[in-house]
Amino acid sequence: MNAAVPGLAARARAVGAGIAARHADDVDRNSRFPAEAFDALREQGLLGVMVPADCGGSGASLFDVASACHALARGCAATGMIYAMHQIQVACLVNHGRDGWHRALMTRIAADQLLLGSATTEAETGGDIRNSVCAVRAEGDRFTLAKNASVISYGDQSDVILVTARRNPEAPSSDQVLVVVTKEDYRLEKTTLWDAMGMRGTCSDGYRLEAAGGIDQILPLPYADLSAQTMLPVTHILWSSTWLGIAADAVSRARAYVRSEAKRKPGTTPASAVRLAEATARLQSMKAAILTAIRQYELASGSPELLTGLSFATAMGTLKVTTSELVREVVEAAIRTCGLAGYRNDTPYSLGRHLRDAHSAALMIGNDRIMSHIATQLLVQRDGSGPFE
Ligand SMILES: Cc1cc2nc3c(=O)[nH]c(=O)nc-3n(C[C@H](O)[C@H](O)[C@H](O)COP(=O)(O)OP(=O)(O)OC[C@H]3O[C@@H](n4cnc5c(N)ncnc54)[C@H](O)[C@@H]3O)c2cc1C
Repeated sequence: MNAAVPGLAARARAVGAGIAARHADDVDRNSRFPAEAFDALREQGLLGVMVPADCGGSGASLFDVASACHALARGCAATGMIYAMHQIQVACLVNHGRDGWHRALMTRIAADQLLLGSATTEAETGGDIRNSVCAVRAEGDRFTLAKNASVISYGDQSDVILVTARRNPEAPSSDQVLVVVTKEDYRLEKTTLWDAMGMRGTCSDGYRLEAAGGIDQILPLPYADLSAQTMLPVTHILWSSTWLGIAADAVSRARAYVRSEAKRKPGTTPASAVRLAEATARLQSMKAAILTAIRQYELASGSPELLTGLSFATAMGTLKVTTSELVREVVEAAIRTCGLAGYRNDTPYSLGRHLRDAHSAALMIGNDRIMSHIATQLLVQRDGSGPFE
């Protein structure tokens, strides 16, 4: 386990509670990129924290980065989610990049605070990201790639994009690789605009992506293994940490409301405090699930066998389903606590943005899709023999 990066949590909390929170309503209202928060994150060097120290980063642990996602999302969910999505791509590079081109890119990420995006979703396959229609076309030591990417969050602001594709035009749809392309390598043509219920600041527009580059930009591990070992667990842990931030801010607002009620009628506990207790209990369940998953990831790290095992896959899949349902339940309990003051858009206790943002959680790779996959896994999974199994 990496040692904690000094000051990382405090710096993330300062950006989250300060500039990110200040612009959150405007980012949401105008469905725009949270530019002010990301300028601050760049100034603080927070985009490169996961890059190893010998490439100029801080070698931050997953726990550190999860805490940062949580702190940012408390102020602005879109900022937290974009930060999470960026760090997921960095983790794939750090864990699976080759010496040479990928290490040089990691050095640039830390030095220039580059922002990394992801193109896994394809118009033809939707959330079935373990299958691709598009394919890498290699010629000598170069390749070309064209993808109908129906969602690339902050595509306009990204400096680098990690793209899933079939290994070659003859490969089956599930024989995928992860291709790393920089702004100089790709061209994006916008196909759809993001005007969504929530997470509006993620600017998750659709694009046609055309890229060309060197073969050594393709991560060597097959995407199936890379996804099992890094992308899926890191995604579910960092998404869940972001949703925890949304839930924690909702509970803070509900607590502030109950306190203001208590001040108005000294000596009595406001009736709404029961709902606050309910929201707090669910928040604690979310937190416990995330901390457990981080510990499971740390215990399995370094063992491809454990990371690709069914027990680990089930744990990481159910984490996402559990926290994505809980975040909505916490926000709903917070709204019930605050009553009209939470329902209105013009009070310090407003929770409309939180509720809309929370609803994206169950859809980001649909929970029903994940549960049907887990159900199939359970048919062949054996009881584990390790601690707590
Ligand atoms: C805020 C946000 C940001 C995103 N950013 C990115 C990004 O940067 N890059 C990127 O590539 N993608 C991104 N995505 C897309 C995301 O990763 C998923 O691909 C997308 O949410 C799937 O959308 P869909 O509902 O159309 O999925 P589909 O997978 O087409 O599913 C449609 C419906 O069918 C259900 N369903 C599908 N399969 C099954 C099954 N086997 N059993 C039962 N029900 C099933 C699903 O639950 C869902 O309700 C983002 C999504 C969101 C919400």
